[in-house]
Amino acid sequence: MGKILRVLSWRNMLVLSLAINFSLVLKILKGDRERGDSWDRTAYVSIWPVVSTTASGSSSLSSASCNYSKIEEDDDRIINLKFGDPTVYETYWQEMGEVTTMVIPGWQSLSYFSDENNLCWFLEPELGKEIVRVHKVVGNAVTQDRYIVVGTGSTQLYQAALYALSPHDESGPINVVSTAPYYSSYPLITDYLKSGLYRWGGDAKTYKEDGPYIELVTSPNNPDGFLRESVVNSSKGILIHDLAYYWPQYTPITSAADHDVMLFTASKSTGHAGMRIGWALVKDRETARKMIEYIELNTIGVSKDSQLRVAKVLKVVSDSCGNETAKSFFDHSYDAMYERWKLLKQVAKDTKRFSVPDFASQRCNFFGRVFEPQPAFAWFKCGEEIVDCEKFLREEKKILTKSGKHFGDELSYVRISMLDRDTNFNIFLHRISSSSNSTL
Ligand code: PMP
Repeated sequence: MGKILRVLSWRNMLVLSLAINFSLVLKILKGDRERGDSWDRTAYVSIWPVVSTTASGSSSLSSASCNYSKIEEDDDRIINLKFGDPTVYETYWQEMGEVTTMVIPGWQSLSYFSDENNLCWFLEPELGKEIVRVHKVVGNAVTQDRYIVVGTGSTQLYQAALYALSPHDESGPINVVSTAPYYSSYPLITDYLKSGLYRWGGDAKTYKEDGPYIELVTSPNNPDGFLRESVVNSSKGILIHDLAYYWPQYTPITSAADHDVMLFTASKSTGHAGMRIGWALVKDRETARKMIEYIELNTIGVSKDSQLRVAKVLKVVSDSCGNETAKSFFDHSYDAMYERWKLLKQVAKDTKRFSVPDFASQRCNFFGRVFEPQPAFAWFKCGEEIVDCEKFLREEKKILTKSGKHFGDELSYVRISMLDRDTNFNIFLHRISSSSNSTL
């Protein structure tokens, strides 16, 4: 009897343990399917096309080392790289899991007001605190003795700055200029309401008019990625610095920017474009007051929920920089941009069908090392045989880009987003490196 019991319990144990293991395997498999997205992404990381280096030291992007057809299904779909939609950052934020998750109860965010003691009464104190902190951690902008004005994206802040800096007397609209190639939205935003206060004045390089004007300095520049300074040689210029891309994943941080009006945005720093939060660092109280007045008149403040979410994201970014054990946000995003630029430059070199700008290396105070800019956009020039690069890429390669004409430049240029998801970026590389059409 004792023997039978011993055998039974042994068998029972075996069956029980098999059942447990089987259900565990099922659970894991089910979990995989539910998390399918992030698993796919992990796979991309290991299947980035490899640029092989030959014994002579020259590298080649051979079809053997770079078998794109294995990477993603290039099913002939249209690849849209027209906008700077920052979905490249999705992977990082997914890997971060719950750390940026927020629960906002229904009783919160009823009041219009965030901080009645602050000049910018609609700025959430938590966001103000995290903006100062992240700039201190990165060292990319002076925040001491600055007014912070929050906006619905830096797009709203740009308009608030124009409102604040334009003369409100009878002198007529002030000209707003920027050096070509300039951010294509500037002329459109400046002129769409046909304001009596300001108007688009074109390329700063050729601007010769007397009297006051506003010059927009975008540094690093959208679309070409170069660091910039003001070019109009006159004391009558009022400057707005758009520093949307002055972050270490895109360019070496050489000093803390210290200008009168500086615009930043969550869209390009952490990739949270959909939260629609930007901020301005403003030296002069009266300028800040007028910008705040504009936002009061325009939208009576800025979404509190979005501000709280950006505050949380910025906190995680700053915390990650001090964390020696895990990869920081900027390490991760720097690596992603580095990899993409390395591949794009290699394809340009190997195919000789197009060119991208050459950048000088500089020392980055944040990373403590020297590197070349690796901008959010590629300012892509087609070979001489192609007059209209945008048309060519759209018709022959099914790649949508933004023509140089929108940036005040030639049709032979296009702006290509380097911030899209891995899938699209890989297909883009595959198509421009393929020899199916020899004219690119
Ligand atoms: N300035 C520049 C130079 C930009 O490239 C962009 C986004 N494309 C913006 C401002 C607008 O940013 P936001 O999403 O904060 O409105």
